Amino acid sequence: MPQPAPKLNAFPVFVRVEDEAVTIVGGGDEALAKARLLGQSSATLRIVAESASPDMLGFIAQSGATHIAAYEASRLEGSVMVFAASGDEALDRRVVQDARRLGIPVNAVDRPELCDFFTPALVNRAPVAIAIGTEGAGPVLAQMLRARIDRMLSPSLGRLAALAASFRAAAESLPRGNSRRRFWSEFFGGAPARAVEAGKLSQAHDAAADLLRSAASASGHIALVGAGPGAEDLLTLRAHRLLMEADVIVHDALVPEAVVAMGRRDAERLAVGKRKGCHTKSQAEINALLVELGREGKRVVRLKSGDPLVFGRAGEEMAALRDAGVAYEVVPGVTAAFAAAADFELPLTLRGVSSSMVFTTGHDLKGNSLPDWAKLAISGATVVVYMGRSVAAEVAGRLIEAGLSPDTAVAVVENASLGNRRRFHGTLADLPSLEARADLSGPVMTIIGDAVAGANFERSEPLAAHRHEGAPIAATEGVQQ
Ligand code: SAH
Repeated sequence: MPQPAPKLNAFPVFVRVEDEAVTIVGGGDEALAKARLLGQSSATLRIVAESASPDMLGFIAQSGATHIAAYEASRLEGSVMVFAASGDEALDRRVVQDARRLGIPVNAVDRPELCDFFTPALVNRAPVAIAIGTEGAGPVLAQMLRARIDRMLSPSLGRLAALAASFRAAAESLPRGNSRRRFWSEFFGGAPARAVEAGKLSQAHDAAADLLRSAASASGHIALVGAGPGAEDLLTLRAHRLLMEADVIVHDALVPEAVVAMGRRDAERLAVGKRKGCHTKSQAEINALLVELGREGKRVVRLKSGDPLVFGRAGEEMAALRDAGVAYEVVPGVTAAFAAAADFELPLTLRGVSSSMVFTTGHDLKGNSLPDWAKLAISGATVVVYMGRSVAAEVAGRLIEAGLSPDTAVAVVENASLGNRRRFHGTLADLPSLEARADLSGPVMTIIGDAVAGANFERSEPLAAHRHEGAPIAATEGVQQ
C-alpha cells in the first residue's frame, strides 16, 4: 500500500510587506541576521534595541530603518510581523505575548515553540523568490539547498520576471489558453529570455512585443495524426510530440484511453465517437468542429486509429480544412493491417506467392457486381479486410463465387497489437462464422490469401470450431447459392 505523503506542519505563504512595518526587537547578531533578511524586502523596518551593536548601527544607518531605544508593547502596533531576537529570554517571551495580544504573528529566534511562523532560507531574484523551509529540522540542509538552487538560476531571472510583469496586461488580450500559453512559453524560453540573459533589456522588450504581435495573429493548426492500432508504444515520436503540444485532442472511439492520455495533461479532449452503431458526431459535424477550432487559433491533434489516411475519412476532413484555409498536416501511423500481420508473423508479400496486397473494406459490396479488389485476390494479392466482421459471409461468398478457392488461408485478429488480442485461423469457407460470434467485441481484421499460409498459427484458435454454429445464413452453403 502506498504511504500517505507526510503533512507539513508549517505551510509556506508570501506575506505582503510593501508599505508595511516589520518590527525586530534586539540589537545583536541574531537581530541583525533577521534585519538583513527582511532588508531584502521593501518593508519598513523598526529596530527596537537599547544597545545595538556597531554592525547593527551601521545597518540601520545604511538601510534607513527606524531605531527605537526602549521596548514597550505599543512599539509593535501596526506591524505585520514581529521578531523577538533580543537574546534575552524574558524579554523575548514578553515580546511574543505582546505581539499575540495585538494579533500580530511573531517569530522568536531559536525558540520554535514560541514561533507563529518561520523564516525560510531565501533565493532572491525579486520579484521571483524561492523560499526553503525545513520546519527548523535542518537549517544547514536549507542553506545547502539554497546554494544549489541559487547556482541553478540565472542572475537575470528577476529582470525577466519584471519584464514579464510589464507584458501581463497586454498578454491578457490573447485568447485564453492556447496562444496565451504559447506566448509565455516562448517569452520565458525564447528570444526575450535570451536577450535579458545577455543584458540587452531594450532588445528583450522588442522581442517580447514581436512575439505578442505574432501570437495575436497566429492561426490554428490541425494535425491529422495516426494513433496506431492501439498499443501505446506503436505511436510515432512525432505523434507523441504533437500530442504533448496540443491544445485540443479530438479522438475517435477506437483510440484507446491510454493513447489519448499520452497527450498534454491539460489539453481539452473531445471524443467524437464513430464506433459501429454509436456515432456521437456526424462526419459533417466533425469537419465543422475542426474548422472552428482552427479558426480559434487552437493547436489540434485529430487522433485517428491506425493510419489517418486508411479508412479514416481524412479526405473529407482535409477538404473542409483546405476550403476554410486552416493549416493542417498529416502524421502517418501504423495501420491495423500491419499490426494484424505482425501478430501472425504473416508476410503480406511473399516471394513467389504474393507480390501485391489489397487493403479493402467489406462495406463496399453493392448489388451483385463483384468489387474490383476481388479480381486482385484471384490474381494472387493478399487481401486485408477492414471493418469486415459483420459482412464476413458476404465477403467470403463473393470471393468464392469469383473463383477463389474455399481452401484459401484466412487469418483473423481481434484487438491487434493489444494485450487482449485474439487470433483465429482457417480457410475462406470458415470465414462466415465470424458474423455470429458475439464474443468478439473489439475491432477485427481479416487477412485472406495464399501468403497467409506462411503465418505462425501457434497462438491462434481455429475458426472452424464455430463454423456451423448459428451463422445467420448457413455459412458457406448460403453464400454459394
Ligand atoms: N485508420 C484505421 C482503420 C479505421 S477503420 C487504420 O489505419 O487501422 C476501423 C477498422 O480498422 C476496424 O473495423 C478494424 O477492421 C480495423 N482495426 C483498427 N484497429 C484494429 C485493431 N487493433 N485490431 C484489429 N483491427 C483493427
